[in-house]
This record gives sequence, C-alpha cells and structure tokens, in this order.
Amino acid sequence: MFEIHKNIKGVQCTDACPLCENHYENECHLFLRCRMAKEVWDTTGLWSHSNPLISHAANFVSFFFTTLSILQPHKTINFDMMMWSIWKRRNEKIWDDVEKNTRIYVQFARDYMIQLNAPRQQQTTPEDSNNNTQI
Ligand SMILES: [Zn+2]
Repeated sequence: MFEIHKNIKGVQCTDACPLCENHYENECHLFLRCRMAKEVWDTTGLWSHSNPLISHAANFVSFFFTTLSILQPHKTINFDMMMWSIWKRRNEKIWDDVEKNTRIYVQFARDYMIQLNAPRQQQTTPEDSNNNTQI
C-alpha cells in the first residue's frame, strides 16, 4: 500500500530504511518501529499513547486514524507534527544526506506548530472579544 519511490530523480537507494539502514522500509517501520521514530515518540511523550495501539492495528492506516480518534486535540496536532518530522528526517537523509539529532527535528516540528497556530491565536485575543469587532 505504501510505496516509497526513492529511485525517482536518479537517487540510487536500496529498500532499506534510510534512517537505521537495518530494516525494510515501509510505513510501519518508518513511523513506528524504527529506532529513530521511537526516539521521536519518546521525546514527545506520545509513545505511551501510541505503543499499545500498534499491536492491535490491522495496518498502518488503521493505527493512524485510531490514534487520532483517541488523542486530545492538542496531542493530535503534536502527533501529526511528529509524523511530519519523521518524514522530513527521512527525506533529508535520502535527498541531502543530512543527519541531525532527534531533538532538532522535534524542536523544529514544535516551532513550526507554534507558527501555524499564531494566526489562530491572534484572531481570538481578548481585545477582539471585548470590542465586539466584526471582521
Ligand atoms: Zn529504520
């Protein structure tokens, strides 16, 4: 279901996970079982929520949507951003041969999440609600 086409654009790669280079790369390995992914989940504190679901999920899509359905909204955003950071880390390794510390990717994802939420927070400032300003 989840094919990662690494040989597009002339990049020669094996089917091995580019992060650990020890396992076949598929979505379950990359986002859940790779030691690099587990570092992200451990750093964010989301592993305790996700780990019990992994063994019960029929496939990765099932795991993903089940996890989203049980997390509180602020943790859902965090979960999404950490998935994105794992994908970013994987792509930087493949395309740019760049390897950074897990904490750098986690912090980048958190900073990006703050930037994404900033316009929303500005729209709901107390000043706006007190002035009954309609935009
Ligand atoms: Zn791996």
